[in-house]
Amino acid sequence: MKGMWKDMMKYSIFWNESIAQLLSEKKIEKMDHETWFSKIKYEEDQDGEIAISAPSEFIKDRFSENFKVMIEERLERLTGETITLNISVKRTRKKENKVEKEKKSIEIVTEKKKHPQLKEDYVFDRFVIGPNSAFAANAAKAIASDPGKEYNPFLIYGGVGLGKTHLMQSIGNEIYNCQSKKVLYVTSETFLNHFLNALKNNSQPEFKKKYRGVDVLLIDDIHDLENKKETQEELFYTYNALYQEHKQMVFTSDRHVSELKNITERLKNRFTNGLIVDITPPSVETRIAIIKKKLEIDYSDISVPEEVIEFISSNIISNIRDLESALTRLVAYTKLIKRPITLDIAKQQLKMTLTNSKKNYTINDVQKVVSDYFDVSINDLKGKRKTKNYTFPRQISMYIIKKLTDFSTTEIGLEFGGRDHTTVMHSCQKIEDLIKADLSVEPMINNLIRLVKEKRSNE
Ligand code: ADP
Ligand code: MG
Repeated sequence: MKGMWKDMMKYSIFWNESIAQLLSEKKIEKMDHETWFSKIKYEEDQDGEIAISAPSEFIKDRFSENFKVMIEERLERLTGETITLNISVKRTRKKENKVEKEKKSIEIVTEKKKHPQLKEDYVFDRFVIGPNSAFAANAAKAIASDPGKEYNPFLIYGGVGLGKTHLMQSIGNEIYNCQSKKVLYVTSETFLNHFLNALKNNSQPEFKKKYRGVDVLLIDDIHDLENKKETQEELFYTYNALYQEHKQMVFTSDRHVSELKNITERLKNRFTNGLIVDITPPSVETRIAIIKKKLEIDYSDISVPEEVIEFISSNIISNIRDLESALTRLVAYTKLIKRPITLDIAKQQLKMTLTNSKKNYTINDVQKVVSDYFDVSINDLKGKRKTKNYTFPRQISMYIIKKLTDFSTTEIGLEFGGRDHTTVMHSCQKIEDLIKADLSVEPMINNLIRLVKEKRSNE
């Protein structure tokens, strides 16, 4: 790629001029420019393209949302050419923290290689093990130290953003670094595209060689192969070839294999041949531990009060990806305004994310998910029957609605057969007591909340 960038700086004067013009027209605010815009760097260019970089994901997003198109238009006006801006993140952290220094010194000794498809951050050391993921994480470690032996294939399933890819890639990174074996990681979508290309270009032999010649094959998100009959067939043969040679395979899925639809029975059988484990949403303690770990590794120069950590972890409940991005956002924001992180700032910054998500859910969304889960009809959920089979799901629904939406207890009561608001309050209290008394209740509620969210995002 590098060689294609012949003329590294031919547009840079136009870039500077565009920004100068937009600044003088106040289309870029001086304040914005001083605090963050000026941190964007011109890297290089080629015909019709300029590569720029931002020091953080946060600045990259702000730039892309607010200024990219405006500057592209201005560039076109100045040069008469259509120029696309490509922005990437290039971290320029000045202060090296302790962990990084340690990492570097180890790297010098062992000259750690970077695997082309695996993310360097996805290693066991950065994965916080909680009761929700202990089985999966320990099995993953066992596999990494002795691939192809006991648990083959290994399949991890669970909801979005819970660490499946992280764990799978940790296996890959560990084997790649310690045993110099051939590791291949692909998403199911990539596998599918490679396969279709092989068909189109008549290059099946190369395809087979690529996938059957590895020691470890990691295929992410196999639910994406639903309805893809021919690709499933190819995977079936790939599987057989690797299995015979005792090569390790790892798969992930957002559901248990038995719940995958339109996947051939014989492939399903293969998936269930080895070890299947799930990852469930983490408890509040685990969420706190995850935040602390991230702070320790990535932001060791920043102090975050305990109450802020607790606030974030008790409000962002069902997905670790969201948890991480809330933290990153908060850190980026307080760095920009050059103020320490306080609970007030955290509340104000997270309000957007939290209320936005609150507004999206209806009482009916929750009722549907809960009635499915407990296998009671919505009529019974709203109705008068008083046996535990009905009262428990009913109370759980009310609790989740209260937690997830802005509906008042009066409004909620109305949607449950016209019950009084005190009944709703009483139900929520009961569940809160139960969460304290019975450790299995909170994970179950988190799981239901995740289902409600997923249902929404699928609609
Ligand atoms: P999934 O593949 O299940 O959708 P990911 O593996 O992509 O989820 O995880 C989402 C984000 O959360 C990643 O940045 C990952 O590093 C982080 N993460 C998930 N689980 C953990 C954990 N137990 N400890 C630390 N970070 C985690
Ligand atoms: Mg994933």
